[in-house]
Amino acid sequence: MQWQVFADPADLPPAERSLLGRAVEALENAYAPYSNFLVGAAALLENGEVVPGFNIENAAYPLCLCAERVALAAAESGFPGIPVDVLAITVRSARHDVQEPASPCGACRQVLFEKEWRQGSNIRIILRGATGPVYVLPSAQSLLPLSFDPDFL
Ligand SMILES: [Zn+2]
Repeated sequence: MQWQVFADPADLPPAERSLLGRAVEALENAYAPYSNFLVGAAALLENGEVVPGFNIENAAYPLCLCAERVALAAAESGFPGIPVDVLAITVRSARHDVQEPASPCGACRQVLFEKEWRQGSNIRIILRGATGPVYVLPSAQSLLPLSFDPDFL
């Protein structure tokens, strides 16, 4: 997997720095009373809209929703057919300082990949912990080698 590493968000291009800031804002709305691990996401759409997402946990744990999938679903329902160009994701834990980017879980990787496959253009992924460096990946597929895509069906 190839990705760019930026030592600090200040080193990002302005648009990506701004999107990461929106993800940090989204994180403040997370509902994570069980894990105390807050995740914020912000999707930049082709039409310039920014759609936030945050994790939403549930006492029935398997029903927990990941921030990136919440953002993608909100983008899909609010702006059907509009491609997602960039997705920024950030995290914060009440238990420790997350100093490295936390990357999407396996389920989210599959969902991100299929969104990308369906729209026919890459989704750049920006990842950051609560502090520390920023990783920028060129596509969702770069997070999911040997992907399972709808052509198999
Ligand atoms: Zn996930």
